Amino acid sequence: MSTGTLTIDLDAIVANWRALAAMSQAETGAVVKADGYGLGAGRIARALQRAGATRFFVATAEEGASLRQEIGTAPEILVLSGHMSGDTDMIGDLGLTPVLNSIEQLTRHFEALPGAPFAIQLDTGMNRLGLKWADWAAVAAMALAQGPSLVMSQLACADEPDHPMNPRQLQTFREMTDGIAVPRSLAATGGILLGPDYHFEVTRPGIGLYGGLPFARAEPVVSLELPVIQIREVEPGESVGYACSFTATAPMRLATLAAGYADGLRRSLAGCAALWHGDTPCPMVGRVSMDLLTVDVTALTETPQSLMLLGPHQEADDLATVAGTVNYEILTQLGRRYTRRHVGA
Ligand SMILES: *Cc1c(COP(=O)(O)O)cnc(C)c1O
Repeated sequence: MSTGTLTIDLDAIVANWRALAAMSQAETGAVVKADGYGLGAGRIARALQRAGATRFFVATAEEGASLRQEIGTAPEILVLSGHMSGDTDMIGDLGLTPVLNSIEQLTRHFEALPGAPFAIQLDTGMNRLGLKWADWAAVAAMALAQGPSLVMSQLACADEPDHPMNPRQLQTFREMTDGIAVPRSLAATGGILLGPDYHFEVTRPGIGLYGGLPFARAEPVVSLELPVIQIREVEPGESVGYACSFTATAPMRLATLAAGYADGLRRSLAGCAALWHGDTPCPMVGRVSMDLLTVDVTALTETPQSLMLLGPHQEADDLATVAGTVNYEILTQLGRRYTRRHVGA
């Protein structure tokens, strides 16, 4: 086999969902946008459904449509980008719940699908999606009379517990929504960790389900094993890969592995990251190319069939630190060529 194997532990995802659910009195939804952060939205949602989750969040109506085929008609699927022009048939036919973000979207939804489910997003300061206060004040009575399933907002800085933006957005959300008889939602993973003031009636964790920070107590979910295609010995003075960017200074054993930047392994990992064989780290050398990378396996006594890029010794958070990015990007960039194996649940 010449593609990497991505193993996704569904039991760990369920355990993480339960642990996050246990931190609040709220109903706990699950965010499975971007194909479940690259890990397979359908399989994950079905596992969480069996564990009791009934609300799933996706980014687009297209994602909602494909999730609907996988999880049946019962769970609510909320579409965070709302009701865009062209989405009406998908939303109506598949019973999706758009999170309406503007007066334009409210108007489109009420005209195209009167009586159909919807939710509302309010902008409490992030300036990305949602109705600003003046617009909300103008339409709140009318919109609430139509029976939204949820009124929500998103925190900009929830991964920094002491950031003054958190209480400021909480206060704004309260002022915009106190007294309404509709379930409210403000907290993603970071917001759950900020404590009960932030929980309201529904929470929406994503990254924490998948084992990532800021949920430090999460169980690891992902391992990625890359096959070794070939092993060679090089002498001092020989160079490796494109642009001869690495030159051996001692006799070395190098393994060439079947994964590269076309699989989401950024070129900036070159010279920084290691792959693991059991407990032994093996540094990457030379450049990352499209389909291949080269690893120094001199330290190993045996000849490895494969090496681990993600696993117990190096999680997505660690790789993100090395690569200068965030765990969300590491997960969502995991290549489509990898074989995805779902285990457990
Ligand atoms: C992505 C997203 C979430 C989940 O965020 P995590 O940080 O992954 O828990 C929740 N709500 C909204 C609106 C989102 O866009």
